Amino acid sequence: MSVISLGSMAFDAIETPFGKIDRIVGGSAIYVAYAATHLVQPVYQISIVGNDFPAEEMEELKKRGVKLEGVEIVADKKSFFWSGKYHLDMNTRDTLITDLNVLADFNPIVPESYQDAEFLMLGNVLPVLQMSVINQMKKRPKLIVLDTMNFWMETAMEDLKKVLTMIDVLLINDSEARFLSEEFSLVKAAKKILGMGPKYLIIKKGEHGALLFHENHVFFAPALPLEEVFDPTGAGDTFAGGFIGHLARTKDISFKNMKTAIIVGSAMASFCVEKFGPQRLKEITK
Ligand code: AMP
Repeated sequence: MSVISLGSMAFDAIETPFGKIDRIVGGSAIYVAYAATHLVQPVYQISIVGNDFPAEEMEELKKRGVKLEGVEIVADKKSFFWSGKYHLDMNTRDTLITDLNVLADFNPIVPESYQDAEFLMLGNVLPVLQMSVINQMKKRPKLIVLDTMNFWMETAMEDLKKVLTMIDVLLINDSEARFLSEEFSLVKAAKKILGMGPKYLIIKKGEHGALLFHENHVFFAPALPLEEVFDPTGAGDTFAGGFIGHLARTKDISFKNMKTAIIVGSAMASFCVEKFGPQRLKEITK
């Protein structure tokens, strides 16, 4: 059972209390791909890169079962660049730079060869692009999961609200849930957000785990307590890759199986944070 994954492929510059790196491959679709392919293949990638994106990274993705027909390479432009700095608690960060570059002109196309995919992971990009991918699917996928971030809530809230009516599962963190719902209590926030369209809502709380809401049901899963968190970048996308990868592998989208998928996503994310960028996800084995 295959997964389509839409998202950014990027260069990141990251500063944490433990170290600094000026340029490392990142982006939401990179983390989703490296996490999900441990569980299910192929992953049909839809993204865009510039002329600077390393050919070796593309080869590595291919080797792991990532299909790249839906990844556009723009010859005369640079890849998306993001830079962030983490606070001492590692749960909060400041975005220092968002250079959209190629992402500014991104017009995702779903190739014919992707049309049989039953799971759709809409990673963190402009909400109109997430909507465009849903609209290009000839048959509605069995499950549509959407991840987003405060950047899009601040710049494209109306489009985001539209796409929320078209999906099954929304994945956001606690501060994004509060921003979206204008409620401080996460239980009240969840009620409001479930009223906006998604049938399931996952609220990620970093080192404090994740909550799953559906109708009147709530499930809470703790995060694995780690001795050291080196770099949390991509933990949310890795969680998403593990979550959808497990559901696609087991072909079961029941609430009960989503609980297990949350545990799988949390376990994957616990590896991601151990090293800079997606490095640790490339090292681990099943
Ligand atoms: P996460 O830590 O899970 O929130 O994801 C971090 C990744 O998201 C980084 O690798 C960035 O390249 C990517 N990212 C950050 N901002 C954006 C954005 N506005 N659009 C798309 N991708 C982004």
